[in-house]
Amino acid sequence: MPGRSDPPRGAHTGPSGGPSRPQVGHRDRVLSGQALGDQPGGCEDGGAPFEVVIAGGSVGALEATLALRELAGNRVRVTLLAPREEFVYRPMTVREPFSFPTARRYPLAEIAADLGAEVRRESFGWVDAEERVAHTDAGEALGYDALLLLALGARPYVSLAHVVTVDDRRIDEQLHGLIQDVEGGYVKRLAFVAPGPATWPLPLYELALMTAQRAYDTSAELEITLITPEERPLAVFGLGASHAVSKLLEAAGIQMIGSAHVQVPESRHLLIHPGSRRLEVDRIVALPALLGPAIRGLPSVAHGFIPTGPDARVRGQDRIFAAGDATDFPVKHGGIAAQQADAAAASIAALAGAPVTPEPFHPTIRGMLLTGGRPVT
Ligand SMILES: Cc1cc2nc3c(=O)[nH]c(=O)nc-3n(C[C@H](O)[C@H](O)[C@H](O)COP(=O)(O)OP(=O)(O)OC[C@H]3O[C@@H](n4cnc5c(N)ncnc54)[C@H](O)[C@@H]3O)c2cc1C
Repeated sequence: MPGRSDPPRGAHTGPSGGPSRPQVGHRDRVLSGQALGDQPGGCEDGGAPFEVVIAGGSVGALEATLALRELAGNRVRVTLLAPREEFVYRPMTVREPFSFPTARRYPLAEIAADLGAEVRRESFGWVDAEERVAHTDAGEALGYDALLLLALGARPYVSLAHVVTVDDRRIDEQLHGLIQDVEGGYVKRLAFVAPGPATWPLPLYELALMTAQRAYDTSAELEITLITPEERPLAVFGLGASHAVSKLLEAAGIQMIGSAHVQVPESRHLLIHPGSRRLEVDRIVALPALLGPAIRGLPSVAHGFIPTGPDARVRGQDRIFAAGDATDFPVKHGGIAAQQADAAAASIAALAGAPVTPEPFHPTIRGMLLTGGRPVT
């Protein structure tokens, strides 16, 4: 492997006069002689911009792209590596089984074009931090002169047998029939289960409350039990929110069992711990458990999440950042993903020479709970 002072054959000279990274698509554009100042991503002084590779196509990645463009202008050139064509507004997917319109989808190519970023429909694979090369799953090598930001999300997995595990990509298909069975009076006892602490906080409550509302609206008889490791409802949002949600659950007739975890030894049977309490229901709906992306070339902590510091920098790395559900931050929430992305973007902009003072990330959790009636904030 060539070292830093030993440019690989055919390598181009980077902005600092040192070796640049191996060839990438956007670097071809630089070499083709296009005037950098004429396009987003060109440097004001005519020098080559910092190359920033952002992997992901959702909240973390898009917020980082927005913030970078705002903070660093054309000092940076952003390449977005995203395997999907669209950004899906996931919070609204919970309404789909209740015959609401599908969650909105936005073409990534259009968003990227607005932000002056290049989008490539490829998956990030692994990183060679020493050589500053991001490798795609398809075997391409993308050099990053400056920085790499990973916003790959978490990988949901089914951790309980005999349950419907929510998959927001096909939630209507999964739950529409169940809601119809509730309306028709075929399902009278329903359990909603959070499998562990590392999951999304809101959707389980939203699904339980919206189902209760639908049963009420159709005069269907339904008992709902919500089982969660949280001590109080939506504890992560603070006491005030917990109190408000407790009242909502109570008003909707939903029984919550907190500080609990479950086993499902057979269909329709739950074993609730501590206490090994048994509960029999007609159907069980669970959130998925989440795993991190466990990236080759980077450290990872338990379950594959990426360890990050207060400025969203990956632990032990000077030029690699991560944001959102992929990180080891315990709360998996879009607002947190955006705040981490903002912190990372500020550090990246400062490194690119923009007059920005990076601020550490101060997590603030806000949410809007869909209830089937008026949303609660
Ligand atoms: C049903 C549901 C409801 C929710 N409701 C709310 C809510 O009301 N409020 C809230 O704040 N949060 C909510 N959340 C949580 C929120 O959606 C997530 O916390 C947020 O989307 C995390 O953003 P992210 O960018 O880290 O990851 P994700 O949104 O998971 O996006 C990851 C992106 O990375 C891409 N990707 C994956 N692998 C690769 C790869 N190898 N290379 C390149 N790209 C890759 C994916 O295609 C995707 O575009 C909800 C989640 C769900 C499932």
